Amino acid sequence: MTRITGRYHDGNSSQTHLAELQVDAVEIRVLAAGGALRDTTARNAITIDERLGNMPRFIRFADGARFESSDNDVIDAAFGVQSRVHRYESRWSLVLGGVFALVVLVGAAVEWGIPWAANKAAQAMPDAMLQQADASTLRIFEQRLNISRVPALRQAQILARCAPLIQAVAAESRIQVQFRDGAGSFGANAFALPAGTIVVTDQLVNKALHDDEIVAVIAHEIGHVVYRHGMRNAFQASLIGLLPSLLIGDVTSVSTVVATLPVILTKLGYSREAEHEADMYAVRALTAMHIPTHRLGDLLKRIDKGDALPGYLSTHPPTPERAEAAQAQ
Ligand SMILES: [Zn+2]
Repeated sequence: MTRITGRYHDGNSSQTHLAELQVDAVEIRVLAAGGALRDTTARNAITIDERLGNMPRFIRFADGARFESSDNDVIDAAFGVQSRVHRYESRWSLVLGGVFALVVLVGAAVEWGIPWAANKAAQAMPDAMLQQADASTLRIFEQRLNISRVPALRQAQILARCAPLIQAVAAESRIQVQFRDGAGSFGANAFALPAGTIVVTDQLVNKALHDDEIVAVIAHEIGHVVYRHGMRNAFQASLIGLLPSLLIGDVTSVSTVVATLPVILTKLGYSREAEHEADMYAVRALTAMHIPTHRLGDLLKRIDKGDALPGYLSTHPPTPERAEAAQAQ
């Protein structure tokens, strides 16, 4: 039997009695110095208030009477109850652990979840939409790009040299290399649009001492197309803001993603992971064509040096592979 000390209110008068609650396996008795204060009550006919720290709480009887006690541990032990509020309140480590877990979860979502989702979205994007992305991005670029001054014959020579590269790409990515004069805005540059349009500026062509250097740059750009890095970046940049509309299947918001492409391709650049993937793609492609891989680094050493314009290296951060490829000659 358990004894709990406290005060008894009968629920009718304002009087309270110093009393003792005796609890056994089936019954409850309320006793004061003068004797029993009420009839024996079945222990399943009472309700016990939730515990809030060590605040006094009520054990309530069906007829409105109540027994008040702050012997909380004894009450919990006697009735086998433990209020959830008290449990969490008394375990700060649990609360802090919960906050920490939440921070880790949000961090993981930003670090891995969003890139993962961006990649999925980019891979799932239908070809027709990629074509639209190319067309609308090119329209914006055309305002700053002029018709190429590279002679048609030289363009044809470079394209012929690239043919095996282009044929090696799966049919769904239609690689189309276009030459443009980037004077005044793009400098010596090359960039890949999502559906496979690759723009190479005259300034980049003119910096090359060997056609295979241009082939190497194009191979790298094809790597960005194959892995859909442009779309992935665009999704990643706009995913947080877009998530709600994507979840409800609002496809029109994809146009918002596409609108960020020009900025991503010319200003923000690719991540080092994306650069590494594109480099690895280029190394494999060049090796298959028996082109020495140092061609990839050779041209890059020459461009961006002394150029006033933001060039190729600002959007294609150099990787150890390219540095190595450059030194391997
Ligand atoms: Zn790149």
